[in-house]
Amino acid sequence: NLKGYTTFLTQHYDNPKSSVGKQYCDVMMKRRGLDKPACKEVNTFIHGTKNNIIAVCTASGGKDYGKGLRISLRPFTVTTCKHKGGSTRPPCKYSDNKSSRYIVIACNQDGKPVHFDESL
Ligand code: UDP
Ligand code: UDP
Repeated sequence: NLKGYTTFLTQHYDNPKSSVGKQYCDVMMKRRGLDKPACKEVNTFIHGTKNNIIAVCTASGGKDYGKGLRISLRPFTVTTCKHKGGSTRPPCKYSDNKSSRYIVIACNQDGKPVHFDESL
């Protein structure tokens, strides 16, 4: 469904990487609403085009990875945000880790990404 794709974009798509200052994850996790009702523990933002991400759902950009998941044929630049500290309530504090990784996602019947599983 379309809502799943929209939610995926809100949670996991940021291209080009937003220039929000030094604390990218702190700003982005709040901006995308991932600090409510509690701080999301881990969240990855993909700095790649929508076309290239959608292509992971097809043979041109991805391949089956089991359990209904797909893995990208090429790495994407991603930033993974990890919650730090004891409190799970906002304001949420995150560590940032930018790297080049293969993404593992689930796609819906329309061939659109709906779930980010992991990156390798
Ligand atoms: N997630 C992510 N990047 C990762 C791992 C997890 O964005 O590298 C997000 C993703 O939205 C996933 C959610 O965290 O749906 C929950 O992850 P998981 O299924 O591993 O469950 P958890 O053990 O973190 O509750
Ligand atoms: N989903 C899926 N396969 C999985 C995990 C989740 O198809 O292995 C679907 C789930 O049913 C939901 C959508 O992916 O409709 C988005 O899941 P979620 O809200 O956890 O988003 P995520 O944080 O995983 O990107």
